[in-house]
Amino acid sequence: LGGLHKPGGNPQIKPELREKHLAATGGQVWTRFPPEPNGYLHIGHSKAIFVDFGYAAHHGGKTYLRYDDTNPEAEEGRYFESILETVRWLGYEPWKITYSSDYFDQLYNLAVELIKRDKGYVCLCTPEEIHANRGGEKSLTRKACLHRTRPVADSLADFQKMKEGEFAPGEAVLRMKQDLESGNPQMWDLIAYRVLLSPHHRTGDRWKVYPTYDFTHCLVDSFENISHSLCTVEFVLSRESYDWLCDVLEVYKPRQSEFGRLNVTGTVMSKRKILKLVKEGYIRDWDDPRLYTLIALRRRGVPPGAILSFVSTLGVSTSTTAIQVTRLEQTIRQYLENSVPRLLMVLRPLKVTIENLEEDHISIVEKPLHPKVPELGNSKVPFTKTIYIESEDFRLEDSKDYFRLAPGKTVGLFGVPHPITCTSYKTDPATSTVVEVIARLENSGQAKKPKAFIQWVAEHAPSGSPIRVDEARIFHQLFKSDNPAASPDYLADINPDSLEVVKGALLETGFLTLAKKLWRDAIAESTARTEKALKENETRVNGTDDDTPRATS
Ligand code: ATP
Ligand code: MG
Ligand code: MG
Repeated sequence: LGGLHKPGGNPQIKPELREKHLAATGGQVWTRFPPEPNGYLHIGHSKAIFVDFGYAAHHGGKTYLRYDDTNPEAEEGRYFESILETVRWLGYEPWKITYSSDYFDQLYNLAVELIKRDKGYVCLCTPEEIHANRGGEKSLTRKACLHRTRPVADSLADFQKMKEGEFAPGEAVLRMKQDLESGNPQMWDLIAYRVLLSPHHRTGDRWKVYPTYDFTHCLVDSFENISHSLCTVEFVLSRESYDWLCDVLEVYKPRQSEFGRLNVTGTVMSKRKILKLVKEGYIRDWDDPRLYTLIALRRRGVPPGAILSFVSTLGVSTSTTAIQVTRLEQTIRQYLENSVPRLLMVLRPLKVTIENLEEDHISIVEKPLHPKVPELGNSKVPFTKTIYIESEDFRLEDSKDYFRLAPGKTVGLFGVPHPITCTSYKTDPATSTVVEVIARLENSGQAKKPKAFIQWVAEHAPSGSPIRVDEARIFHQLFKSDNPAASPDYLADINPDSLEVVKGALLETGFLTLAKKLWRDAIAESTARTEKALKENETRVNGTDDDTPRATS
């Protein structure tokens, strides 16, 4: 978006409207992030957040968080809270939080004005008739219906009736009188208002008519003096109607510019589809780690910086990018690589008895939390006669390209100065599976350096360590194909083995200390962020607002 910024707002508007706009903004870049509160934000939204907040911040401007709440049927309170929390989690603080519903009165008055200017009419066709008159499925001839040319006074009267609830949903709509000859379907007399009888979470049952996206979006951008209305490419055809409506109503017209959507392969992001997955029990909830909603990524442990770093490498061209999910995961892994401590865990424990240690032997092993980042510190773990290793790290058949444990073979244990050698093993007579390995600790200094080091956890009977994990969940890709959204039945594409549950894993004792520390850090950080936001709000309320951009990351 480097070349986009031209101070002074949209050049294609009347000078007096521009003057008013400039008086309000002082020539700053004002943007908005306008989610519909009908679902949780997903990885695609992080690009929109990055562009909307990032572009304004780059130019020292301001960004609104505007809930586009014009469809009471799909909205829920929990979505509002989660959206704000997610925006903040990504490190951005909205300059103001607004709602399209804040402007219902102004919008209604402009709808009346639209009819008075003979640029809008109440249409009593059925939805099927409207569809057919717009050319239908087969793009047949478009034609105006008889309501298009009815007297202004009739439309005004019917619009009033719509407002008073005298029409049922679908019986009457307010349409814009645009251009049926246009090559652009977004100019074929779009619907501006419809009758909906669901109560609205903010305005209750005050309204029986609600404005559509096409009517609301440009006008609220205008009311809020947005200088750059940034949106995704599927709105490129809507730009003509956006401009048309501002022009016929003679209000300030922001400039719309489009950027490419971000899609990730191997998953679905549509709210409707995710809702179905949740409702039908394929996944636990919207934050199930197999999803690419932002709350799911957060729950999986992805830091916001990794997401921003991913989005920033994508660029803001207008092409829609379908990014391989492996590329996202690689970025996350690189980001975490040098910042995250590593602990020992054994998912499927196999008992190892070290024959040359005393029954009550305990020594303390101090091992680094990260092999290459000493600043992360060390963890101290007990080392005892009985330890557990991953059952996959032992096999009966040795081979040349195998470096872990087998009868007669020597392997290293992470953090332990001396390796162990398997001297024998015991099997369960019923199943003939190996249930215990007997090993010798090589402390003579003569054993050669092992080719591999494996994970282990000690049994430390008196103090009850190690930590026993009731349930470890391993998440795999939720869909079998790369493009489930395109398959006719995406539910049939679900990978039945996407969740693997392992019971009885063991974790090193340092986990709790570390988890507590990380938890404390996270709480401290979040508290600091909230306090900062509150303070900024206070400053604004007291009228001493400065122009500092709110992006903090
Ligand atoms: P959905 O189709 O999942 O319902 P939406 O586009 O309706 O998503 P909104 O909540 O209306 O979602 O979107 C808020 C903002 O985020 C809009 O400006 C929209 O263009 C942008 N956005 C939504 N999805 C993506 C995406 N995949 N990539 C980039 N921006 C997106
Ligand atoms: Mg939308
Ligand atoms: Mg949508």
